Amino acid sequence: MSTEATIPTGTIEEVEGVTPDALREQMLKGLPSKTLRKRAKQIVPNDPETPPEIGANSRTIPGIITQRGCTYAGCRGVVIGPIHDILHITHGPVGCGYYSWMTRRNLARVPEGQTNYMQYCMTTDMQEDHIVFGGEKRLAEAIREAYRLFKPKAISVYATCPVGLIGDDIHSVCRQAKEELGINVFGFSCEGYKGVSQSAGHHIANNGVFKHMIGLDDTPNDAKYKINILGEYNIGGDAWAIDELLKKCGITILATLSGGVSYDEIINCHQADLNVVMCHRSINYMAEMMETKFGIPWFKVNFIGADSTAKSLRKIAKYFDDKELMDRVEEVIAAELAVLRPIQAEIKAKHQGKKAAIFVGGSRAHHYQDLFGDIGIETVSAGYEFAHRDDYEGRDVLPNIKIDADSRNIEELDVEPDETRFRPRISPEAKQKLIDAGFAFSDYLGMMREMKKRALVIDDISHHELEHLIKTWKPDIIGSGIKDKFIIEKMGVPCKQLHSYDYGGPYASFAGAINFYKEIDRMLSTKVWSYVVPPWVKDRKAAAPEAPAEEQKAA
Ligand code: SF4
Repeated sequence: MSTEATIPTGTIEEVEGVTPDALREQMLKGLPSKTLRKRAKQIVPNDPETPPEIGANSRTIPGIITQRGCTYAGCRGVVIGPIHDILHITHGPVGCGYYSWMTRRNLARVPEGQTNYMQYCMTTDMQEDHIVFGGEKRLAEAIREAYRLFKPKAISVYATCPVGLIGDDIHSVCRQAKEELGINVFGFSCEGYKGVSQSAGHHIANNGVFKHMIGLDDTPNDAKYKINILGEYNIGGDAWAIDELLKKCGITILATLSGGVSYDEIINCHQADLNVVMCHRSINYMAEMMETKFGIPWFKVNFIGADSTAKSLRKIAKYFDDKELMDRVEEVIAAELAVLRPIQAEIKAKHQGKKAAIFVGGSRAHHYQDLFGDIGIETVSAGYEFAHRDDYEGRDVLPNIKIDADSRNIEELDVEPDETRFRPRISPEAKQKLIDAGFAFSDYLGMMREMKKRALVIDDISHHELEHLIKTWKPDIIGSGIKDKFIIEKMGVPCKQLHSYDYGGPYASFAGAINFYKEIDRMLSTKVWSYVVPPWVKDRKAAAPEAPAEEQKAA
């Protein structure tokens, strides 16, 4: 294990008088035996020193209400959708297009004279006829029409479930369109059923970006300290906040895959000296492939939380091994913390000792524990919607993960070093010196190593389990995805939605952390939650608190 790990101390013995094991038992009680066996593996009390094996990346059992999205949602909605100047066409019924219309609030600043295609929801709108007779002609026509109207530099096409089932060959349609129109046209076989969850879509998306975009433009870039940020999707402006911070330090971001980014930035981003990875789950594939083909090393960072941001900045500066950069980074950290610390201390004094539970995508359930921790809120339970075992237990378990039929479904690219463009960015001696000093490359320690002992880790939490957790452990706040937010709030618990932030953000970097502290303070301080009577209270009328006299008068 890397020496970078900071194992948390202390154990969660019990919350509200109930131990993690007792809560787990409650959650599993009454399930049919086959379901129980499977779910039992997916709910485990943590051990940060020796993370226990967790069941992850397995299909949700029919009948269980999950918060997951489909493979198409992961490919189109998460990874490729935020590239603002590619025209995206969903080949399928219009209903699938829901995931293509800014549900994630990925923001983009579009240079003068360019178009932001993210505001459009383009679909071939397949009807019964196309299911029976095939939809390839309709797709070809849709691509032509889109080109006629917008003249984009690239068009991407996404296959949804019906397209896969009837066997439309979207790739050959795209190849023909590319020839005919003279622009880059490429497709993604990301049918919703292709994998266990949206995670399969991330993998398919990365393969497509690597095959059809990365490396197309070899124009040299002579900026100093050039990096790419991988797995940062600019929700609520997070990527802008990171960019602003890195600029202050003198570090240049070539591309952010894929938030607030353009096609031109992506095709040239193989000029970087370093890749840093925010969301390991959604993009570790890209980091690996770029290292193999071009020689760009990568490591994991986290710009969510004040201390995590400072740690990530220092790590980047250490990699470049330049005294001037390291000094500049220290100056920036000191200046930012001078503003942040008093605000953090004031809010922490109000909320120290409160408890959170976080159930969000592939890295957010991990990252946001740092932000809650900054203001004294302890995460007693957390889990991912679509993670794999390495996201929980760390990458050292990768060789032990069994490849199942679902994972085999997804193409693995055979990547070789590029004959002319492979260039190690750091000498083997310099790399070894860093490693000897405890520096970790190509690493992710996973969520469990940073959670307290016996905190309850729950993969793909179901509605039923979430209800038990809320009823029994009474978390003061929950971080969730989009679909579960309102269910949680109807149970009288404030919910910070961490997939698209509702209307909030940014939360990344020091400035974002301050936003987050204030937002959580506001959510925890409002009295509105005391007026919500959870559904399991039998006598709801008796339990509802009287509204203050002045409010009654106003009503
Ligand atoms: S699961 Fe299939 S049909 Fe449903 S939204 Fe995803 S691609 Fe469309």
